[in-house]
Amino acid sequence: MTAPRPAGAVRRRTTRGRTWRRRPAPRLMGVALAAARQGLYVFPLWPRSKTPCLHGKRRCQGTGVCADGHLGWEQRATTDPDLIRYWWGASPTCNVGIACGPSNLYVLDLDPDHGEDPPPEWAGARHGRDVLARLAEQAGQPYPGDTFTGRSPSPSLHLYFRVGQDSTLRNTAGRAGWRIDSRGRGGFIVAPGSVRRDGVYTVARHAPIAPLPGWLVPLFTPPPRPLPEPVEFGDVRPLSDTRRQRYLDKVADTVAHAAPHTAHDTLVRAAYTLGRLVGGGEFTDDEARAALHIAAQQRRIPTGEADDAISDGLEAGALYPRRLADRAA
Ligand SMILES: [Zn+2]
Repeated sequence: MTAPRPAGAVRRRTTRGRTWRRRPAPRLMGVALAAARQGLYVFPLWPRSKTPCLHGKRRCQGTGVCADGHLGWEQRATTDPDLIRYWWGASPTCNVGIACGPSNLYVLDLDPDHGEDPPPEWAGARHGRDVLARLAEQAGQPYPGDTFTGRSPSPSLHLYFRVGQDSTLRNTAGRAGWRIDSRGRGGFIVAPGSVRRDGVYTVARHAPIAPLPGWLVPLFTPPPRPLPEPVEFGDVRPLSDTRRQRYLDKVADTVAHAAPHTAHDTLVRAAYTLGRLVGGGEFTDDEARAALHIAAQQRRIPTGEADDAISDGLEAGALYPRRLADRAA
């Protein structure tokens, strides 16, 4: 005779016959819930990988949560326990990503040498940890190791630090020194407890997350963007409004009629092309934006995604100004 099946139980065969056993809460769901309790914003990664498993911009259908524009993992990362139970209930083997930006987190990623020699300025270093120790010494500061630290299977060390809500620090790769990367706005880190084919992410140091020491900030701050060279346009005859409009229409048309799967890239390219001409004073920013938005709508690119793509393209293009009459450019 078998006992009635309790809620949430799974059938299991044992040597003594068939029994019922309560289904354990999925382990990685527990990892995600624990991180969220600390105020860290989590989202699922594919099982045994560090790739986000929420759809990306290019695959966006513009439905559901993305009805008003695409939301990426950074926007969808959450501390809501119900949403976490829903996500990991559906996919219990998903790894746990922590979105650094919304979590007000800055994480230093210290890597081993991977069998390579360091450049001369870091001679003798075997790990990003050695480089960080030298940077601390140069700054006359203690080694900033007294904070929550994770270890990846590589094995890299992840030093977690709190930053203010207004922090603009982003990801870096080797900017501060050899084998030192970092994750901030626009970046994420794999939570300890997650699993990869080559091993498990573990906690290397159980400690509260310390505030980011002030002396580290300049090391991870990008240098100011160089101003573009001033351009001499000489005495070019302005083009007629008709020709300018025709050109605008032609560029916008490439977006409206972009082949499947190329709409996003085409929009960025078109915005870049027009951005250069806005920089050269051929069109106003408003004219370019309006034409691109109309084309994006015709091509059914979600508004939020179109906004980002158009702004990125216009901004990049404005660094290389040109006029329509500059045939060679
Ligand atoms: Zn989407």
